[in-house]
Amino acid sequence: RLYNEVIELKGNIRVFCRCRPLNQVEISNGSSSAVEFDSSQDAELQTISSDSSKKQFKFDRVFRPEDGQDVVFARTKPIVTSVLDGFNVCIFAYGQTGTGKTFTMEGTPENRGVNYRTLEELFRVAGDRGGVMKYELFVSMMEVYNEKIRDLLGENSNQPTKRLDIKQATDGTQDVPGVVEASVYSTEEVWELLKSGNRVRSVGATNANEMSSRSHCLLRVTVRGTNLINGQKTRSHLWLVDLAGSERVGKIEVEGERLKESQFINKSLSALGDVISALASKTSHIPYRNSKLTHMLQSSLGGDCKTVMFVQISPSSSDLGETLCSLNFASRVR
Ligand code: ADP
Ligand code: MG
Repeated sequence: RLYNEVIELKGNIRVFCRCRPLNQVEISNGSSSAVEFDSSQDAELQTISSDSSKKQFKFDRVFRPEDGQDVVFARTKPIVTSVLDGFNVCIFAYGQTGTGKTFTMEGTPENRGVNYRTLEELFRVAGDRGGVMKYELFVSMMEVYNEKIRDLLGENSNQPTKRLDIKQATDGTQDVPGVVEASVYSTEEVWELLKSGNRVRSVGATNANEMSSRSHCLLRVTVRGTNLINGQKTRSHLWLVDLAGSERVGKIEVEGERLKESQFINKSLSALGDVISALASKTSHIPYRNSKLTHMLQSSLGGDCKTVMFVQISPSSSDLGETLCSLNFASRVR
């Protein structure tokens, strides 16, 4: 019951922390875990520095290294499925590169993440409600890289890049006119779309995986519902966002393209932090316009919209600096 009370107090914003397991390289390097979980508390964790000083952090929920995709989805499911009731929902994965943002959102074919499980659940619930509600689902996929929005479903390698922008619709909500909205009827179709979208993500000279950590990837599910009894129509959005890596640029000399990228990433992640903390503290001015990311999500953040921020962390002592930065970011938005 306590868990529900906490959520009640916090309104529509929830912050979940997920810690990945130590990986093989870290284990063979002899890295130890700098993160501790108290078995009596499922919402707290502690970090331990080499001088054994401890810091405590509290969340709506902490997922531990051994918690699987099913455990994570069980907590996320009630929020994502509210899109079928007409709510706008945003789910973000935030954190340093390599901490499991893509694992949480996309997952792997053997271990599917929030995106796939969500679509599966939306199709299932829509089917259950078939006698009362008729639902149509559409999927869009976009990338924000250096403050430019690209349509990942709207292009292929021999087509010029189509540039998207944010416009205010007649009803006052923010939209991205011209973005491809693919009508979908099954999770298999969605999985294929995601694969084709991923193939056109920004790829740099180094390697694709590294570049994907420099951009935000946004999957938008549009739900159109018609109540078959009274004819009432609803339209709502669910955004599933795999954010760019939050790591600070290292001491290694960074210049040119790479420096510009980092500045854009810092700007948009801090703009997102500012918006969520303004919403959490119920300030009247919410600074949506400070980045493409927050501007694009304006109609789905705040009001009665529901938000989940996954703060992804590494347990490794060698990542403690970045882990503390992410946990501090999370404390700010909570
Ligand atoms: P990010 O997207 O934040 O850069 P990834 O999702 O690519 O990080 O994760 C880095 C690696 O760690 C991947 O090989 C991924 O499969 C693995 N990983 C991340 N989180 C978990 C987890 N909770 N359980 C098992 N493996 C994980
Ligand atoms: Mg990733």
